[in-house]
Amino acid sequence: MARISLEGISQNYDRRSVDPADLALKPLDHVWQKGRAYSLLGPSGCGKTTLLNIISGLITPTTGRILFDDRDVTHLATEQRNIAQVFQFPVIYDTMTVADNLAFPLRNRGLPRDAVARRVAEVAALLDLTPDLPKSARNLTADAKQKISLGRGLVRSDVAALLFDEPLTVIDPSLKWELRSKLKAVHRALDMLMIYVTHDQIEALTFADEVVVMKDGRVLQIASPAELFEFPAHTFVGYFIGSPGMNIIDAEVDGHLASAAGHTIELGARYAKPPAGSVVQIGFRPDFATLAPKGGYPVRVRRIEDLGRRRIARIAFGPHEISATVPYGVSLEGEEAGLTIRTDRLFVYVNDQRVYGEAP
Ligand code: ATP
Repeated sequence: MARISLEGISQNYDRRSVDPADLALKPLDHVWQKGRAYSLLGPSGCGKTTLLNIISGLITPTTGRILFDDRDVTHLATEQRNIAQVFQFPVIYDTMTVADNLAFPLRNRGLPRDAVARRVAEVAALLDLTPDLPKSARNLTADAKQKISLGRGLVRSDVAALLFDEPLTVIDPSLKWELRSKLKAVHRALDMLMIYVTHDQIEALTFADEVVVMKDGRVLQIASPAELFEFPAHTFVGYFIGSPGMNIIDAEVDGHLASAAGHTIELGARYAKPPAGSVVQIGFRPDFATLAPKGGYPVRVRRIEDLGRRRIARIAFGPHEISATVPYGVSLEGEEAGLTIRTDRLFVYVNDQRVYGEAP
């Protein structure tokens, strides 16, 4: 199978309500490609699990179709979709050995003994479970049990997709990093379509080729981690991804200039006049705004935090407090400083959506 397509999918749990704002998942079209790793990222209640469950067949969407290649599977149960799933908590058989747990999904499908043994050995090696294979699953730690769950998800090479719902929740924080990079390596080795739900941006960004950022049931942006960082299409993406998040300031935009925080700011592109009554803002990341003793927009420095790899200053920019980078080698005396913003990373948002200007 090469792809899973969603066409006009939406979910309304409260069938009495016809208000689009009440949809747990707002209408969505998207194509998930084989061999790609995706994360669904967003705060609690934004609709990640709903979307995952629609793909797996645990729920039937209120509107729309799901196609596995050209086959319409909208009304097929999970078992008929050939999907593997890994949940928050381990799903394993305590009475069996680790090897039998891993072998179970393959034996269930009638695979020959030697093929089962080969595949179990392969997946155990990928997850560092080889020494545990003969042990009973009962007495293992929660971490080890969840690794077996991951193994059971990975063991069938013929699945259409492998879906993870916050699989590292029970994993000890010190092991999370290791398992995360292991999953990434497994993805590279197995060339499967994987979709991974999390509310943790580090997990999402390290795992995925493409991250689907969601809020209030709506998909705000689907892009690579680098693109989400450099070109946020929505103010929430700017604010949610990155630490500290993007500086977002109310502004009036006129052509290639913005008035914001008492300053006239050069935008680097020429913008159409936003419709009357809309909320207009400019946004720029602290990483693309730097301080120097002089030059640029005059600001007052409130404090500087040394984060080891970089120094971030909190500064007063008109009535706003925003963040900017103090490059190493730059020393600031007193509170007065000058702020320079990279115009190719300075964006205009109208009602939270990025709008695009024309070259000046
Ligand atoms: P979390 O990270 O907390 O699991 P999520 O992003 O996965 O959140 P969902 O579980 O998909 O979000 O929930 C989206 C919205 O749908 C929420 O408002 C939730 O309360 C609602 N919801 C989810 N499942 C049901 C259900 N079975 N019946 C009614 N409402 C539901």
